[in-house]
Amino acid sequence: MLTPFGKVSKELGRKLIHETIVLDIKSMTPILSVQPFNQDNYEYAVKVKTLNVKNHDDLQRMVGYQVRKFNACRKCLKCESLCRFNAISITGGTYHIDEEKCRRCKMCVTAKYLDGGCLMDKYLKTKEKE
Ligand code: SF4
Ligand code: SF4
Repeated sequence: MLTPFGKVSKELGRKLIHETIVLDIKSMTPILSVQPFNQDNYEYAVKVKTLNVKNHDDLQRMVGYQVRKFNACRKCLKCESLCRFNAISITGGTYHIDEEKCRRCKMCVTAKYLDGGCLMDKYLKTKEKE
């Protein structure tokens, strides 16, 4: 799930709280600390702390998109076709990002290309308002 943001390292995180650290792919400095927790009605819920970046809000927003994507994906295949590097595959009901192919361009988590990070976003919002 966190591959578009950098190199995902469980080893660097604090094991007691099941923390995962994401390193910037160029500088290899930690930019995200992600800690899972349980929340009703959600398959994935995480607490995210941004580290060592200039624009914390942008990165937080992108991570939010990605979490929503993994919670709400209805396999419309838009993400597959959006990724220019064929890093995303949605097969057998699983959304998978190939760590080797991903160039961390962040297109798949940028509102300009995918509003809310997922095509389903507007439908989900409409449903919530009903
Ligand atoms: S746009 Fe949303 S529903 Fe479509 S493939 Fe991407 S995450 Fe899944
Ligand atoms: S669009 Fe593809 S290459 Fe770019 S960050 Fe997303 S998965 Fe990686």
